[in-house]
Amino acid sequence: VPAVELRDVSVTYQTPKGEIPALAGINLGIAAGEFVAIVGPSGCGKSTILSLIAGLLKPTAGDILVSGERAGLHSTRVGYMLQQDYLLPWRTVRENALLGLELMKEVRTEREKKVEALLENYGLGHFLHHHPQELSGGMRQRVALVRTLAVEPEIFLLDEPFSALDYQTRTTIQEEVWRALRASRRTTILVTHDVVEAVAMSDRVIVLSARPAEIKRELVIDFGVE
Ligand code: ADP
Ligand code: ADP
Repeated sequence: VPAVELRDVSVTYQTPKGEIPALAGINLGIAAGEFVAIVGPSGCGKSTILSLIAGLLKPTAGDILVSGERAGLHSTRVGYMLQQDYLLPWRTVRENALLGLELMKEVRTEREKKVEALLENYGLGHFLHHHPQELSGGMRQRVALVRTLAVEPEIFLLDEPFSALDYQTRTTIQEEVWRALRASRRTTILVTHDVVEAVAMSDRVIVLSARPAEIKRELVIDFGVE
């Protein structure tokens, strides 16, 4: 069973100004453990695809299957990482990183140990009790990464997670994220407008055409590793 499958999926947004077609008849299969990047011009429907997979949006037509089940109904854990880190300013680094697990009602001491170990891993061990506004953009994005990794999602969705970072930090964090997700062989879908990032990080690059998007081409990146 593919980890993610889109069958003839179309999305048309209904707005007061009329209909906005976003996706037109997309077919897509992503195997478990695969790292796929989706690139395409702004507004072509990349984020829309992630919302469908996360079960946050229903398609106008077609089916979205996650581990063989209809998205939205599935029990699969989906992790979402976005351009903005969405850290809560009144919570400390440690409390922010615990957010995802709190929602899942995991046992308190276990989840605290797990999160602290992860924060330590990402060089945030000395900042557990700092607040987000005291951290650099790169450190904040690392806290967001830890918050997402902590819930051990089966599928990781990344929507332009590095685009707010300066070049130097971006390169470092790209590598950290790549290592974290590769090491766990987690199914990952990265949306980006940065073609170099897409090629550097993924096994396969899917190029969408301008709106309403169809799949224009697919490029399989095989480094011959393993
Ligand atoms: P991308 O991520 O590639 O920039 P999006 O998926 O965000 O593209 O958007 C695809 C198209 O759908 C765009 O024209 C956008 O304006 C429109 N759109 C996205 N979300 C909504 C919404 N909630 N309501 C109306 N139109 C939307
Ligand atoms: P150029 O821009 O130099 O004309 P292309 O962009 O057409 O080259 O292709 C670059 C490389 O990617 C080529 O080696 C080509 O064979 C390969 N390639 C292009 N499209 C695909 C695809 N859908 N699947 C696998 N490889 C592809």
